[in-house]
Amino acid sequence: MSEQKTAVTADVCVMGAGPVGGSLACRLATAGIRTVVVDRAALPPMENPAFDGRAYAISAGSRRLLDESGLWAALPAVPQPIQEIRVTDGKVGRPASRLHLHFDHQELGPDTGPFGWMVEARGLRVALNAHMRTLPALRVMAPAEAAVERRADGVSVHIAGGPDIACRLVIAAEGRNSPLREQAGIPVTRLPYGQTAMVCAISHDHPHHGIALEHFLPAGPFALLPMAPSADALAGGAPNVSAIVWTERHAVAVRMMALDDARFEREIARRLGDYLGAIRVVGRRWSYPLSAMLAHRYVDTRLALAGDAAHGIHPIAGQGLNLGFRDAIVLGDLLIEAAASGQDLGEAALLTRYQRARRPDNMIMLAMTDGLDRLFSTNNPLVRLARDLGIAAVHRAPPLKRLFMRQAMGQ
Ligand SMILES: Cc1cc2nc3c(=O)[nH]c(=O)nc-3n(C[C@H](O)[C@H](O)[C@H](O)COP(=O)(O)OP(=O)(O)OC[C@H]3O[C@@H](n4cnc5c(N)ncnc54)[C@H](O)[C@@H]3O)c2cc1C
Repeated sequence: MSEQKTAVTADVCVMGAGPVGGSLACRLATAGIRTVVVDRAALPPMENPAFDGRAYAISAGSRRLLDESGLWAALPAVPQPIQEIRVTDGKVGRPASRLHLHFDHQELGPDTGPFGWMVEARGLRVALNAHMRTLPALRVMAPAEAAVERRADGVSVHIAGGPDIACRLVIAAEGRNSPLREQAGIPVTRLPYGQTAMVCAISHDHPHHGIALEHFLPAGPFALLPMAPSADALAGGAPNVSAIVWTERHAVAVRMMALDDARFEREIARRLGDYLGAIRVVGRRWSYPLSAMLAHRYVDTRLALAGDAAHGIHPIAGQGLNLGFRDAIVLGDLLIEAAASGQDLGEAALLTRYQRARRPDNMIMLAMTDGLDRLFSTNNPLVRLARDLGIAAVHRAPPLKRLFMRQAMGQ
């Protein structure tokens, strides 16, 4: 019989093997749920260092998903813990304002772990690609084009040139331009920022001590995230490495991206100051136009949206993927519980519980990150004054400070 005529029976089909879809598929399969994950793109090339320069700040809450899906242990390098977070504001080429916030995870108690860990997007990809192959209950189809047919009694996924998959539920984890979301006619609200985030790695003379910096400048936030040095960096005598996420208006970002490395480094130094000593850009640079986005519904007949297919936020707080991981945790818990009691995994009541649990949380984070960007990305002197007073107030109010710290940890 040809592969084309084969029928595969599964419980769940996940469309999109990105960090959210891939991790959720691993978690479901680890719990014994028969899962198929389909990606339009080939997965091995995503391990290439030139594919994605991002590094994720994985919160302590998100780590649970990576632990339970077996991915944390499969990461190729030990992630860098974020021990402290420093929040400052100022103007390009000038020292930061004296009113700043400093968060140390130890303020929450001696047994509290770090705020999170920095994991390279590429490292997570390596772990996903290796681990997905080891799970008996998981079948990976990539690269593959699929047509999805959803009915009240089940889902059929037709793989072009491949098998037909019969399952109970399809999960759209296809990223921002989710075709399944569009096919279901789920409206989306979009919020363009007119900003572009430039991403690169730098090496520097002095150690970062696990301190993340969020420096607010009038054109947008400039973040420095501490990284563990790769084997290559160590071999090249560059043990101190950090990731940069630098936001500018589109037109300025286009000019900055066109600069040679020496000039680009000078522009970074004008924003960062000299506390890390001399800096050098390592490898290539990436740029991402920024916008926020929220789907009006997360569910439809036998369909659930997760990750960037459901929401996208400003990277100002490094929480985009963490929200997607929280979707995966909640949906995973509900499906594992339902499977244990023999329930239909695509039942409307179950999907409604998922939407109720996740949509408000994601909306709050979208509003918070949007508000933060508007509050800080401005030169308006009145807004700047109000903001500095706010920073001083948070500094003097330990309960409020602890609330922010718990939020950053994804608790
Ligand atoms: C500059 C920048 C910095 C960021 N920093 C952070 C950070 O520090 N911390 C954090 O938590 N988040 C961060 N984010 C957000 C984070 O990158 C995203 O939230 C995350 O990548 C979303 O993962 P996902 O799996 O939902 O979607 P994606 O990563 O977009 O993956 C989608 C997958 O679906 C596949 N696909 C697409 N269409 C189809 C189809 N039709 N059929 C099958 N498969 C399909 C794609 O090939 C891909 O593999 C940042 C974002 C930006 C832009």
